[in-house]
Amino acid sequence: MSNYSNIDSKLIHGGIDGDENTGAVNVPIFQTSTYKQQGLGKNKGYEYSRTGNPTRQALESLIADLEGGVAGFAFASGMAATTAVLSLFKTGDKIIISSNVYGGTFRVLDKVFNNFGITYEIVETSDLAILEKSIDADVKAIFIESPANPILSITDIKEVALIGKKHNILTIVDNTFMTPYLQRPIELGVDIVVHSGTKYLGGHSDLIAGLAVVNSEELAERLAFIQNSTGGILQPFDSFLLIRGIKTLGVRMDRHIENALFIAEELKKHPGVKAIYYPGLPESQGYEINKSQTSGPGGMLSFELDEKYNIHKFFESLEFISLAESLGGVESLICHPSSMTHASIPYEIRQKVGIVENLIRISVGIENKKDILNDLEQAFLKSYEG
Ligand SMILES: *Cc1c(COP(=O)(O)O)cnc(C)c1O
Repeated sequence: MSNYSNIDSKLIHGGIDGDENTGAVNVPIFQTSTYKQQGLGKNKGYEYSRTGNPTRQALESLIADLEGGVAGFAFASGMAATTAVLSLFKTGDKIIISSNVYGGTFRVLDKVFNNFGITYEIVETSDLAILEKSIDADVKAIFIESPANPILSITDIKEVALIGKKHNILTIVDNTFMTPYLQRPIELGVDIVVHSGTKYLGGHSDLIAGLAVVNSEELAERLAFIQNSTGGILQPFDSFLLIRGIKTLGVRMDRHIENALFIAEELKKHPGVKAIYYPGLPESQGYEINKSQTSGPGGMLSFELDEKYNIHKFFESLEFISLAESLGGVESLICHPSSMTHASIPYEIRQKVGIVENLIRISVGIENKKDILNDLEQAFLKSYEG
């Protein structure tokens, strides 16, 4: 048994810690597809790497440990993880999704699972009364994000989990933005957590990966079957990279929060900013709920650029802050949700949920916070058209 209980230590020593055979402090990269068997029906726990690989298993036990779940699963991308989880459902089932759910999650439901008769309904899940009213006999799951991308709307996860239990349906949280360092939905009562490991967990914008964690043996068995059957697994080297990234998640996230809070406070006062969305600002929607279910507001913020500024010039004027999709890396990234990350969501829905044309999202990196602010300031100056 380990003698630590804090998440900071778990990030480094959780799951399978090092290699017992050699004393290596890191889990080796088992770059193998198959395993020599001692005889018919006799093996050392591994037969074929789609089914199981020691490096991937180290990562899977680590994420299960961090989220406080029964079992973890590693996939080739966040979308592969979400697709595997959605494969738990069947024709006729309906999934409720948050109105600001990740664009790719919307797209896979709308354009892929729809073909198999699994339907979805977009619901403003931050309003629990609306959520509960939308549950009918076909609804088999509620899939939420909190904070939800890109205007960082907050949903009360504990209450959603209670509603799920009351109606005997599964609750699923995409925990990509918060990570288990800040928020552990399974401890709040939900059944399944999914992650894009590409973002904060990997942390260096050098990897595409996905994870899922379940809260019961029954779900673990079903998801293991789906993972092995559909085969969207994470490779050994990428599993190693993700384990390596997770070790520094705590220190990185602390710095992301410090920087994001600073930038949010500064942007709030800026004449070029019409509205700002950051869960760390006391006036933000769901501030108290977010405070109660997380240990920090994270490193993502969005703002609406005032019409007096040219949005194209703004993006083109930035120097080291890169215009790019994705988030959660050490470097600051900026994006235009309506044409980039959320372009797959129809225009009318985008307008309804606040993804307007002048909305800008920043993944605040861990560079010096004054340098980040200076880069933004000079872009405001250059893009001003009065
Ligand atoms: C990026 C992202 C995903 C998809 O993950 P990939 O690794 O790109 O497949 C899912 N959910 C959220 C919230 C994301 O930001």
